[in-house]
Parts: sequence; structure tokens; C-alpha cells
Amino acid sequence: MGGYQYKVVITDCDHGSIEEEKEELSRIGAELILVQVREEQDVIQSCHDADGIINQYSLLNRRVLENLPKCKVISRYGVGVDSIDLKAATELGIIIANVPDYCIDEVANQTIAMLLALTRKIAFFDKKVKSGQWDFRLGIPIYRAQGKILGLIGCGRIGLEVGKRIQSFGIKVIAFDPFIKSLPEGIELKSLDELLSIADFISIHCPLNDSTFHLIGENEFKKMKKRPIIINTSRGSIIDEKALIWALNEGLISGAGLDVLEKEPPNLDNPLLNMDNVILSPHVGFYSVESIKELKRRAAENVVNVLTGICPKSVVNCEVIGKSRAPLLSK
Ligand code: NAD
Repeated sequence: MGGYQYKVVITDCDHGSIEEEKEELSRIGAELILVQVREEQDVIQSCHDADGIINQYSLLNRRVLENLPKCKVISRYGVGVDSIDLKAATELGIIIANVPDYCIDEVANQTIAMLLALTRKIAFFDKKVKSGQWDFRLGIPIYRAQGKILGLIGCGRIGLEVGKRIQSFGIKVIAFDPFIKSLPEGIELKSLDELLSIADFISIHCPLNDSTFHLIGENEFKKMKKRPIIINTSRGSIIDEKALIWALNEGLISGAGLDVLEKEPPNLDNPLLNMDNVILSPHVGFYSVESIKELKRRAAENVVNVLTGICPKSVVNCEVIGKSRAPLLSK
């Protein structure tokens, strides 16, 4: 091992450099190797003697995990851990950690930028002016944002941040979130039906799962009394896209700002691509130079923590605590 106390392997990553990870792991004198492998056998071969693993897309199934006898921690770049067999990891005493909150600022701003761009018809006017049409009346009517109501569907880390920030525009905030009992002053919890009927803007911030798949469909659009603008920076399939296109065509909603779609990238014949009151971005909400640096540093920090006996900030398989291969000194 060339004098190193630990070996840490990055199975794969598409970030260009691994400077942040190197810096973090140098604190404990760990050797860091980036192998860029995705295939089962290659992962086993390159990680068999690793004390810790940092992973992006490569599949870490039971067979792979069973062949990593020294591995104490796997840290995933980002939130999702569906590429890792959590049950097997727990049985084997491997801690799985992630970084769920590296881009709250970015996604909150993406949401607010889309909301303001739609209320002020920025993208629409930009197109008109560049095609030689200098006439604000082309965008009439435009309504004042101040005094309107934003309904958040999901009020966790990102939803809450959007809610806090948007209040400074004089916009009132309400939220639907079945798992939250109370919210900071100024944000009122409502039922989904009530939110749909009174919100002027609706922004989606819940996770995609069985109960949120197509949470917003034809029935829900019919309940939207204020012809709201809808923003989705969460996951495409929370909105039934066919129903969304129908609602836009019927005028049930005034516009949509979408950072995520049911199919990414969309087919070129997707009607959303040709609607003036729809603005789209290519699932960029998470990204900034700073957020990626933070993601990389914190993914490595998870490994440093476990190898030095500290419980990482975000453990995914909490059941492993107390029976992990790496004894943890503190929680
Ligand atoms: P979070 O876990 O902090 O918050 C999610 C909230 O949704 C929780 O409060 C939860 O109680 C609530 N929720 C769960 N089921 C619900 C339901 N059926 N109806 C309403 N609310 C429900 O997550 P977060 O960090 O705020 O992220 C929110 C979502 O943003 C993520 O799930 C992810 O899909 C998305 N995201 C997108 C990007 C991007 O690049 N566009 C980046 C990061 C995250």
C-alpha cells in the first residue's frame, strides 16, 4: 500500500477532477484511486482491498458487496442510492452514506428564477425582441406578483428555502406536506385540494415515489381555480405530462416552468417545446461550480468520518449503526 493507512477507491465519476476528494482524504493519509469502472467484475477487482468507496453510477449489488471484505463505507455522490443493495450492505456491516443537501441554494433559486421569469414573461419577450418586435403590448396581460399565493407541494429542505426566499417578494406561502406537522411562521399548512384551489403559483418539491407518481394529473388541474403558474424542479413524473399539456391547451393554468420532464431529454415533437408560456431547462437545478465542489468534498468527508470512527452526517442504512465493520465513536 506504499505507506498509506487506508485505500479509498472512486468507482466512477463524471466531474472532471477529483481535487476536493483528494484534499479531504489527505487529512487521514489515505490513498485515493479513481478507476472509472461500471461492470460488476471490474468493480470487484479494483475495490477488493478498499477501506472505503465513493460511487456515482456503478452498480453495487450483493455479489459486488460480498467481495469487498475490507470495505467499511460507501459514499454516494448525491442523494439517490438505488444503485446500492442496502440490505446486503447492512448485513455486511458496510455504512452507506450520501450527500442529500449540497444544492439547496441552487434548486431554490432555479425555482424562483423560473417563477419570476414566467410572471414577467422574460423568455417570451426575449424571443420577440430578438426577432425585431419591440412592443411590450405583445405580452399583455402581466400581473403583479406581490400579494399572490405560492403553494408548495412538499416542504422539506428545498421547498422551505423557496418559501422563505419568496416571501421577500410579498408573496404569501402555503404548503401541502403530509409528513410535516409544523412550519416556520408565515408558511401555512393546507390540504392538497385547498392548495390547488387557492394558489396563484404552485411549486413541486416532494420526492418521486409510488405515492407521488402523477400526483398532479387531470383531476388536480381541474381543481386549480386561479389559473396558476406551475413550477417543477423536483422530478418529471410527479406531474402527468399529458395532463399538463392538456391543461395548458385548455387554459386551466397560465404557464409552466420545468427543470425536469417525464422523459429527459424530451422528444423533439413534445408540444411543451413549442409553447410560449412554458420555460424549460435541462435538469440543471442542482448545478453550480460551488455545489459540485461541495458535493465532492462532502462525499469524501463521509469516508474520512467513518474511517476515523465518526458517524457521517447522512447515513442511509441507519440499521447498520452499532454493527458496522468500522466501530463508530460518536453519533
Ligand atoms: P426533502 O426530503 O428535504 O423534502 C421533500 C419533502 O417532500 C419532505 O418534507 C416530505 O415530507 C415531502 N413529501 C413526501 N411525500 C409527499 C407527498 N406525497 N406530498 C407532498 N409532500 C411530500 O427533499 P429536498 O432536498 O427538498 O428535495 C426535494 C426534491 O427535489 C428531491 O426529491 C429531488 O427529486 C428534487 N431535486 C431536484 C434537483 C434538480 O436538479 N432539479 C436537485 C436536487 C433535488
